[in-house]
Amino acid sequence: MDGPFPLEVDEVTRIVSGSGPGNFALGKMDKQKRFVVRFVGRDDKNVRDALLSAAKKADPTPGLIGRILGKDEGADAFKFSYAQDAQAAYGKQCRTYHQFNSKGQLENKSHPKPPNGAPGKCPVCGETQ
Ligand SMILES: [Zn+2]
Repeated sequence: MDGPFPLEVDEVTRIVSGSGPGNFALGKMDKQKRFVVRFVGRDDKNVRDALLSAAKKADPTPGLIGRILGKDEGADAFKFSYAQDAQAAYGKQCRTYHQFNSKGQLENKSHPKPPNGAPGKCPVCGETQ
């Protein structure tokens, strides 16, 4: 994935110039300026739209107030990549989900779901829901 980039509408608009299926990760920059993944997602049709709506939700960011209060919630950065198709995006989301969830750092509430109407099987754990 490319990034991290600031999770802001202007940045998403500038950086994610193309539409299409893809994957993204939302997270925070830690004090060492390392990207800490908090959520892994995908969009089967347009990863740009998904990131724009994530950026809108994150805005107004805890930003200055968050830094003053030392809050560690939400996301202020993202990474993304395009995928060949929805199925490829699903497979990649599964792999990143397991990779980061095993460290207990994700806010994802459940295992990634296969694309609508397509048979899906997680390449990591075999989950078929
Ligand atoms: Zn799985």
